[in-house]
Parts: sequence; structure tokens; C-alpha cells
Amino acid sequence: MGGPGAAGSGARPVDGVLFDIDDTLVDTRGAFARALAGTTSAYLPHLPAARGGDVLAHWRADSLGYYRQYTAGELGYEAQRMARANDLQAEFGGAALDLDSFHAWDAVFEEGVQSAWAAHSDALQVIAELRADGVAVGALSNALVGYQTRKLARAGLAGAMPMLVGLDTLGFGKPDPRVFLEACRLLGTEPARTAYVGDELDIDAQAASAAGLIGVWLDRPGARRVEISADDVAAAGVIVLPGLAGLRAALGF
Ligand SMILES: [Mg+2]
Repeated sequence: MGGPGAAGSGARPVDGVLFDIDDTLVDTRGAFARALAGTTSAYLPHLPAARGGDVLAHWRADSLGYYRQYTAGELGYEAQRMARANDLQAEFGGAALDLDSFHAWDAVFEEGVQSAWAAHSDALQVIAELRADGVAVGALSNALVGYQTRKLARAGLAGAMPMLVGLDTLGFGKPDPRVFLEACRLLGTEPARTAYVGDELDIDAQAASAAGLIGVWLDRPGARRVEISADDVAAAGVIVLPGLAGLRAALGF
């Protein structure tokens, strides 16, 4: 696995780079930890604080696939969030939430998560360097454009990120190849000359590669949501990076 080669004008290795947002540019795992500390204190008060890591891991794994059902258009936003909240309550011995109590739970969650939105320390610099290289830069995320716009602003990345495609741009999300192609169209770059960088091996890097882009999997140490084997990684055939600082070199700059 190497860079994308010498295709195109040769002026630069790629013409565009698209980024995932959550756990790629923004430390969403850290924000979830803050949010879940609040909901655990209020709705799972019997649980020792030492179990906080288990709660976070269970939330991030979303092993029943509710968020992916939402991004595939199979489940509404509130329905998936309520199902995940109740899955958490059931897993850790809490009371089931009816609609009213879920709304209260969700208010605690959102207050916590939004107060903790922050950029990863390597995000702003790589975006600035790519833009200085003359590379078109944008974001493609499986959440709503308005919500992600507020997130980028809170994380100090709004000015650095001129373009954002979300779940509501086409009405469905990654891994559908059409969202990657729409993002390239809006960016003004050819898919084969555009890299996509994200923290999910399947719906980010592999899906981008399947859509004709250059797939880059951001595998930050200790950040995997689900178990991924070395065979899975090898079979994916994508560029693998432990952080964004090595992105430009990996692409051939
Ligand atoms: Mg992500």
C-alpha cells in the first residue's frame, strides 16, 4: 500500500481530500465520555464510576446497529437514539425509558456531548497544509449538516472546512457510493484524484475505495469501536494511518 501514484497533471498527488468528522477531525469519543458520565450519574446511579469505560465502549460499539439503520434510512433519528439509550439502560441494569424520560435523558446527553466537542490536535494543521498545497478540502459525514456545522464551529474548525456533505444532503449516508461521488462533485474533483479519510474501516475507507476514491483508514491508537482483524485490514487494501500528521506523506506530498 502506498500513495496514489503519479496519475493526473503531476502538479500534486491528489486534487481533493474529504474528511469524516466524528473521531476523525473531532474527538467524538471524548465527547461521548462526557455525555455518558452525565446520563450514567442520573439514570444508572447504582453503577460504580469505574464502569464508565464499559458504558462508553457499549455506546460506541452500537452492536445492534441502530445508528447504521438510521444512516441507511431504515430508522428515524429519535427512534435510533431512544433504542440506543434503552439498550444502555438494559445492559447496565437501569430502568427502561418511556418517551418522556427519554427526552429528559437525551437533554442530559446532548448538553454533555456538545459541551465537549473539540478538535483532535492534529486536525487543523493538516487541513491548513493541504489547503496551502492547493488541495480542495471538504467534509463528508453520516450526520445532519446543521448538527455537524455547529460541531465544527464549536471545535474551531468551521473556518478551515469550506464544504460539508451530511446525511440530509442526499437522504442517506456512507457506505453508499453516491454520497462519495456527490461530495467529489461539490468539491470539484475527480473521485480517482480525491482521498477520503475516516476512522471506520468499512463505511469510510473501504466504501470510499469502492466508490473510486483513495480510501484512507485513520486507526488512532486505542480508538477502535469494534474488533478488526489484521486480515480484515490487509483485505481492505487501503492506506492505514495512526494519525492525521502522516496524511500528506502517505498521499505522496
Ligand atoms: Mg467517524
